[in-house]
Amino acid sequence: MLTNEFRLWHVPLFAVKYAWLSVTKRPILVHFEVTERCNARCGFCDYWKTPASAKDNELNGFADAARFFNPMVITFTGGEPTLRRDLEEIISGVNKAVKVKYITLLTHGGMLTPERAKRLHDAGVNQFNFSLDYLDERHDTARGIPGLTARIMRTIPEMQRLGISGIRFNTVVKRDNIRELMPIVRRAESLGCGVNFSCYTDSKNGNEAGLLDDSQLDEFDDVIAELLAYKRARRGVITNSDYYLERMPRYLRGELTDPCRSGIRTIHLDPSGNVKRCPDFPADFHWRDFRKYKPIDCNACYYACRGEAEAPLRVNRLRDIVA
Ligand code: SF4
Ligand code: SF4
Repeated sequence: MLTNEFRLWHVPLFAVKYAWLSVTKRPILVHFEVTERCNARCGFCDYWKTPASAKDNELNGFADAARFFNPMVITFTGGEPTLRRDLEEIISGVNKAVKVKYITLLTHGGMLTPERAKRLHDAGVNQFNFSLDYLDERHDTARGIPGLTARIMRTIPEMQRLGISGIRFNTVVKRDNIRELMPIVRRAESLGCGVNFSCYTDSKNGNEAGLLDDSQLDEFDDVIAELLAYKRARRGVITNSDYYLERMPRYLRGELTDPCRSGIRTIHLDPSGNVKRCPDFPADFHWRDFRKYKPIDCNACYYACRGEAEAPLRVNRLRDIVA
């Protein structure tokens, strides 16, 4: 666990809950998309084009849905969740509704002050995930937020001074940042943070600009070997499973053709409470009408949430968790 709020004795509690959710075939991880609005300008995602009027359809709270699914891991995401002024109340309601859980918040970080982070932490957030694809101004340009990287780097130590230990970078692996991955890991380590990688996809809006070229795959093998060697020497910084990292190059070479199991161990709720099997599929039904998903013949992405849901609970994964 990447936060000092958890102790070793929490591991059996989570293990029992994990086993219960697995046996009953219920989602382990539920993403609450509290808004689709966003003030970034990412080229691979169209959420920022969502009109301000969409606010009228956003639920005031997700506690009933959280109680219904009773998952082990809960992620608040968007759009940009910090645009919601009532985010503290939403998180607090969910925090009270579910007993054994780990709550994360995914943000671009452009508006997150240390003080607001503390309020969100007090409301129940265990881990803050900052999107970070480069360590310099290229990240500001890619997200369309001037000064974003510098702001994130200033905010993190301030958050830590306020007692927040669960901080992680979420890094999208794309065409022009594969040589940035190890530097991002080293920066995360020096800051006392984690880092989680996820494959770029064009499934959000068809933008192929970030897809790796076939000519980069041998170089990417070397990068993955470096990441795995780093993980073997030091667990607890890179939070992906070894399994997911090993399979990323295989996915990019077209070697993985298994049906996607999204919607079985992870689901997404949109701002109105409708359920999607993954972030990029349309909603199927309201959460009150939830029906269990079956695997689907789709291979459009290899998001971490897809690949990690397939990762077996091997010894090295347990070592990650304990680290
Ligand atoms: S990827 Fe995230 S930060 Fe970028 S536009 Fe989409 S919701 Fe906003
Ligand atoms: S592969 Fe799975 S997670 Fe990815 S877009 Fe298709 S259904 Fe969604």
